[in-house]
Amino acid sequence: MKILLVEDEPKVASFLHKGLTEQTHNVDIATDGLTGLRLALSNSYDLLILDNLLPSLSGLEVCRQVRTQNSSVPILMLTALGETDDKIRGLDAGADDYLVKPFAFQELLARIRALVRRRHEGPTTETLLRLADLTLDPARKLVQRAGQPIQLTAREFALLEYLLRNQGRVVSRVDILEQVWETSFDTGSNVIDVYINFLRKKVDKDFTPKLIHTLVGMGYVMREE
Ligand code: CA
Repeated sequence: MKILLVEDEPKVASFLHKGLTEQTHNVDIATDGLTGLRLALSNSYDLLILDNLLPSLSGLEVCRQVRTQNSSVPILMLTALGETDDKIRGLDAGADDYLVKPFAFQELLARIRALVRRRHEGPTTETLLRLADLTLDPARKLVQRAGQPIQLTAREFALLEYLLRNQGRVVSRVDILEQVWETSFDTGSNVIDVYINFLRKKVDKDFTPKLIHTLVGMGYVMREE
């Protein structure tokens, strides 16, 4: 895989470069945001790893600008502990996932595998998933509610697809972590709640009936009530 790593801390950059190269990945490094953005837009990468706090342009801004160019390259953001708002803004800016520093290299590899596997899942001939006036087309990656197209990020799409496939059934946070994030690491983060909120804003907020329901202490369920 061809990976762009945008990281200004030399120690972290060289540690990641060494580890990823050992995994036979081809890694380009940029140490500031503008260089990272320029490289991201002028090359074809299989994955971007963006630190958030960077000289010249933040990782968040790099992410946003890459997405405005209509690129669907998987983006993994790195954030420092405690930058919760930045984490959420990163996901909102179109990142597919984030890791909180410091992290174990094995966890980074697990995240990378999950992101890339999802991207390479080929088109299927499956029919629409449907609940009330919400439809999701797994093959064409399209979501509509009441006939209006809804734009979702890759991760939001995966979460909605999982919930719709299990409609009527209560799924726990652990189920979602394992099936959508493909990890059993619970970093103690509120990532799932954050994504459920993103989905609610896009899929439920301006429509009735509400389809995404929280069952306190148990998880989530999609159904028409
Ligand atoms: Ca940094």
